[in-house]
Amino acid sequence: MATPSAPPLKIGDYTVTAFSDGLFQTTIDITVGVDKEMTQRVSGRGLNDPVFLAVNAFLVEGRGIRALVDAGTGETFGPALGKLPDNLRAAGVPLDSITHILLTHIHPDHSNGLTDGAGQAWFPKAEVVVQETEIQFWLDRDISQAWHERQRVNMVNSKKAFAPYAGRVTRIGNGEFLPGLHAQMSPGHTPGHNTWTVEGGGDALMIWGDTIHMAFLQLERPDIAFVFDTDPELAVKSRLRLLDQVSADRIRIAGMHLDYPGYGRVRRGNGRYFIDAE
Ligand SMILES: [Zn+2]
Repeated sequence: MATPSAPPLKIGDYTVTAFSDGLFQTTIDITVGVDKEMTQRVSGRGLNDPVFLAVNAFLVEGRGIRALVDAGTGETFGPALGKLPDNLRAAGVPLDSITHILLTHIHPDHSNGLTDGAGQAWFPKAEVVVQETEIQFWLDRDISQAWHERQRVNMVNSKKAFAPYAGRVTRIGNGEFLPGLHAQMSPGHTPGHNTWTVEGGGDALMIWGDTIHMAFLQLERPDIAFVFDTDPELAVKSRLRLLDQVSADRIRIAGMHLDYPGYGRVRRGNGRYFIDAE
């Protein structure tokens, strides 16, 4: 059964629609560099209690493009995930109508969904747009250069996911990709982790990727990092910088792992942050 999509947001020349890929089951035990008792106290959960994280993608339409920000998990995470293609089709968005995949980063829950289980492109006409730094780390390096086993597996999977897109991958740096749509790195979670900001008409939406994985922990303690962070200290710095920025500007954010549809505005108070869903 497809998840109906939430009402679209209109921002300048663009329309943004959130789509669900499903729910990822994990625990708070994936934190690194922090006291596990503190994480249990802050979250009110046990270390091994199941936590269900949303996996979202966002469709950005306008100025001649129909771009998907991130591609979900594909067929690599089991039956609770990989629902993005069906949800797009159910909303009347044929997969071959997608012109661009704008990635926030190359990680299994964001880029494995470029291809199906048979290694075919889900999005046969799309160009994949990624930060140069991110491609250098995950795709350009030899598998033998992986730092550890999990990273090696991610490198193998990302090379597979990108294979049918050879010749249509665009490497970018920070800056405007199209008028009213720009990229800005926030490294740490991965070396080239990227935010996509849509703006126009005095309004803006920052699609911030994996700036927050567990809102119930990291809004109170942004210093909490996870085993998936390539550079946990840098991930914390980037998170603090973005939280400061978007709470000062009060611009709307969209998160890949915030509860669907993943929109909100960040507010600061009582020595912590809050996200007001709106
Ligand atoms: Zn993620």
